[in-house]
Amino acid sequence: MRDIKSMTMEELAALMAELGEPAFRAKQIFQWLHRGARSFEEMTNLSKALREKLAGSCTLVPPAVERKQVSRLDGTIKYLWRLADGNCVETVLMRYHHGNTVCISSQVGCRMGCAFCASTIGGKIRDLTPGEMVDQVLFTQLDSGLPISNIVLMGIGEPLDNFDTVLRFLELVNHPEGLHIGMRHISLSTCGLVEQIDKLAQHQLQLTLSVSLHAPDDPTRSQIMPVNRATGVAKLMAACRRYFETTGRRISFEYAMIDGVNDSDGQADLLADWLEGTGSHVNLIPLNEVTESPFKPSKRVRQFQARLEGRGVTATVRRKLGGDIDASCGQLRRKRMEESQ
Ligand code: SAH
Repeated sequence: MRDIKSMTMEELAALMAELGEPAFRAKQIFQWLHRGARSFEEMTNLSKALREKLAGSCTLVPPAVERKQVSRLDGTIKYLWRLADGNCVETVLMRYHHGNTVCISSQVGCRMGCAFCASTIGGKIRDLTPGEMVDQVLFTQLDSGLPISNIVLMGIGEPLDNFDTVLRFLELVNHPEGLHIGMRHISLSTCGLVEQIDKLAQHQLQLTLSVSLHAPDDPTRSQIMPVNRATGVAKLMAACRRYFETTGRRISFEYAMIDGVNDSDGQADLLADWLEGTGSHVNLIPLNEVTESPFKPSKRVRQFQARLEGRGVTATVRRKLGGDIDASCGQLRRKRMEESQ
């Protein structure tokens, strides 16, 4: 059985040729898929014979809402989706003035092992498919009734560790016959896989690349992010520079503020040394407390920000949304796993 939701328009055209159908059927099917058809039965402008052929050769299983939480504070909605194989992933819908934004997952679990992150506890179960990534956007939009204009790949998983899937996902959501979300409305967040950053640069996409830096020095970064042990900050920053030179797109850096770990003045100065003059932006994230982790939120966020600004590095503090609904990724999936044990 083939995963029809993950197919590009060209692949659908090839499938139609294989089935002896005219090429325009590909566009009709693509439109049905990306408007949220739940079965081939629904595709009423296709012949019954074709619908049956498709049902016999392709899978089409929409995700089911396993859990849904709506924040009373700011309207943030968090979905826990149950996938065809029973695994669950989270999607968060945030309502900003610049438009509704979905934060989607790229893997079931994660193998990067960041010490402060709930998504990596229990490791990676499997990669998501391109179709499962599209479905998070599509069915969040359909279920909530809220039109989605922006996507951030900042949910569970490391997008660059599922590279080909993510590229295909971008092609699908960007397609004019599908959700048609512009690359400039998409952000991809990575823990900093150097080779894949170089590979991504070659594709010259207009998306925003965010790098989860979280510490400007190797001892601290290696302590909280195992991915740093092999690479080091200097090589990562060099890859970021190459990315900017190749694509012309400025990278933004994420920095989760952890009490007594990465929030000293010295670390702000070192961060400014790396970024001064690059025009890069720093997004300071108040740490979300994770039950399983010993880390506490920093109390020095404003001082740290002021110190960066004093050096001409623009830094904003991320507004916390959905504080009442476990909205930081990985937490809801963990909760359900614990309950079912
Ligand atoms: N794997 C990707 C994307 C997923 S995480 C990455 O590492 O960038 C999205 C962002 O949330 C990352 O910057 C991540 O480091 C951060 N994050 C993870 N756990 C957090 C926590 N407990 N508090 C604040 N930010 C956290």
